[in-house]
Amino acid sequence: MGSKVLVTGGSGFLGTRLQIKNPNWIYISSKDADLTKYDECVRVFKKYKPDAIIHLAAKVGGIKENSTKPAEFYDTNIKVNTNVLEAAYKCGIKRVLSALSTCTFPDVVYSYPFTEENIFDGPPAITNRAYGFTKRALYIQTLAYREQYGVNYSCFCPSNLYGPNDNFDLDSSHFVPALVRKLHESKEGDTLEFWGTGNPRRQQLYIDDLADIVPILLEKHNSDIPIIVAPNENLRISDLISTTLKSLNMERKISFNKKLDGQLRKDGSNKKLMEILPKDFEFTPFNKGISTTYSWYYIKKQFDNGI
Ligand code: NAP
Repeated sequence: MGSKVLVTGGSGFLGTRLQIKNPNWIYISSKDADLTKYDECVRVFKKYKPDAIIHLAAKVGGIKENSTKPAEFYDTNIKVNTNVLEAAYKCGIKRVLSALSTCTFPDVVYSYPFTEENIFDGPPAITNRAYGFTKRALYIQTLAYREQYGVNYSCFCPSNLYGPNDNFDLDSSHFVPALVRKLHESKEGDTLEFWGTGNPRRQQLYIDDLADIVPILLEKHNSDIPIIVAPNENLRISDLISTTLKSLNMERKISFNKKLDGQLRKDGSNKKLMEILPKDFEFTPFNKGISTTYSWYYIKKQFDNGI
């Protein structure tokens, strides 16, 4: 895309991977502007005068942080999203592509995988209710601006992401980075404890797959559909662990604490996405993506420790 693109959340997990592939775009973080403040949004958009915004900035976390800090998730995300869209429109920016999440979808639907049409068929899971409803509000605001102002604002919904440069903090991370860190800090024969039962299934999307897909969506996704971006694989948590151990050639005992299991299924259909992507697009298989992620984390720790 030849036009000037600004990415909010540019210092985050997805933003930093986009930077590698699209170094000419403008990437902003909370150091450039606190997007919970409307005037700051206007100031930074007027400064850079982008033709298009990819809106990624959000307070993001795993099941533990979402469950213990719902007020913080609500306050930050509702303000950031409302301000970014309103300021973008007031600054004359005609294209905004915003990240929702498959957490935006109902806790339970009648059949899986759910599709984009299921988005309002029930409330999001209670474990990420505040986050999920702020994403729904962002979607509704996007639809309202499309309807009233005729702007090309649209949304995409990634499933769980993983890969190099993820958040590996055990209190706030998602499942896969927590697994990587626990494995790295353990030794053969140790027992590792995980949240829940191991039965829920999750679509884990490798971060560089999404970084390849976002520019395509920016160019082609001009529609009111909250397009789902998810891989074909939909593995149980217990299978994600065993695949990881096998890929890394590690042996550990595994136990589950039966608490905060999360949704049993939350797989979304990628049928509409595949109609937009090139015919030869292939998702990174989990066994390959997890090996690359672990290698990256291992080297980073060696480097951090001066080895
Ligand atoms: P992340 O690593 O947590 O990064 C969040 C980004 O938002 C950072 O750049 C952060 O800036 C910025 N930010 C937070 N509060 C801000 C504020 N008040 N003002 C300005 N910037 C602020 O997030 P991510 O994992 O890359 O996620 C990107 C998007 O994808 C989010 O919208 C998220 O909801 C969505 N998503 C993520 C996942 C996942 O598994 N990670 C899955 C589905 C959807 P600082 O670095 O300065 O704090």
